[in-house]
Amino acid sequence: MTDFERTRAMFDLPKGIVYLDGNSLGPLPRAATDAVARVMRDEWGHELIRAWNTCGWMAQPLALGDRIGRLIGAPPGTVAVGDTLSIKVYQALASALRLRPGRRVILSDSGNFPSDLYMAQGLIGLLGDRELRTPAPEDVAAAINEDVAVVMLTEVDYRTGRRHDMPALTARAHAAGALIIWDLAHSAGAVPVDVAGGNADFAVGCTYKYLNGGPGSPAFIYLGPSVADQARPALAGWLGHDAPFAFDPDYRPAGGVARMRVGTPPILAYAALSAALDVWDEVDMADLRARSIELSERFIAEVEARCPDLELASPRDPHARGSQVSFRFADGYAAMQALIARGVIGDFRAPDIMRFGFTPLYLTEAEVVRGAEVLEEVIRDRLYDRPEHRRVEAVT
Ligand SMILES: *Cc1c(COP(=O)(O)O)cnc(C)c1O
Repeated sequence: MTDFERTRAMFDLPKGIVYLDGNSLGPLPRAATDAVARVMRDEWGHELIRAWNTCGWMAQPLALGDRIGRLIGAPPGTVAVGDTLSIKVYQALASALRLRPGRRVILSDSGNFPSDLYMAQGLIGLLGDRELRTPAPEDVAAAINEDVAVVMLTEVDYRTGRRHDMPALTARAHAAGALIIWDLAHSAGAVPVDVAGGNADFAVGCTYKYLNGGPGSPAFIYLGPSVADQARPALAGWLGHDAPFAFDPDYRPAGGVARMRVGTPPILAYAALSAALDVWDEVDMADLRARSIELSERFIAEVEARCPDLELASPRDPHARGSQVSFRFADGYAAMQALIARGVIGDFRAPDIMRFGFTPLYLTEAEVVRGAEVLEEVIRDRLYDRPEHRRVEAVT
């Protein structure tokens, strides 16, 4: 059995489905169902409140952080898990702004995920006299100057898969005296990342995409040594306090990344996430990346040969993209609905992007070819013209 056959067997994938959306919601790891049931029955059910100590519940935000840390190049004790990614973005950004009080610019890019930009806009509304700049992704490097307090970028663009040069932009931000926040939402579990080696100040990401932690599974945050003991959390919750059970009326941050904890951790969600991380324990990120490139290159070649009306929206150089491939097509929404109705699941991002994720843990080459065959049928036979595929659902 190859390594990827072994990991594929660890997922519960419905028969007949080609799943090209693990970049948006990873599938169910087989062990997660029993893991959640066991925590409910044996820990919550049997131990009741004692489980915070007897089952290590209170230590889980950092224990799970260490397991994610291995996948993103973060040393033990530097990653905390909890809350949603939007909240972790807010925490990182608020902390960074406090560390650069004389500077007024938050620099991001026009391709960043809206929630990250909204968090910046919300903070600016609160703090006043700050400015969010969003140049085109390829113009970010040139826009870094001494007005910039913090550069906030998502390494892999959620729409096109374009990948920023993380070490180069980090070095450039630091040379200008700015801090940098890397959002790894589409990187963790997709491409090798080295937050410590690359000197990131802050990194954040979610666990329900490539890491397969389940819908709404908690996010993570990394603090680099440059900020670990200086960052002042704007969301100063009791579990980020140095001594939560002293019930001190005055806030005093815990040492290191533990200060980024906010409130009571979601133990049931952790049970699913922990089972999902078991799948990653023996995965080598370099092997995974090589396989992801093979699968995505095969898909591009098949689609371009079969569907001349689709235009590649992702960089052609595999090293310049993450683990997803996007095509532009004017009727992309309806075409994606038609594709999904035929068992090939990708997703759609407005205005015209059909998006496909490549996840070697459980995806085979035969499935990738099958996905392209069905896409060919949808486009060639104009199946997207059918009225049932044109109804717009709440989640695209
Ligand atoms: C998926 C994603 C989010 C989602 O944030 P949640 O708070 O988890 O809903 C935020 N930012 C980026 C860059 C993302 O890709």
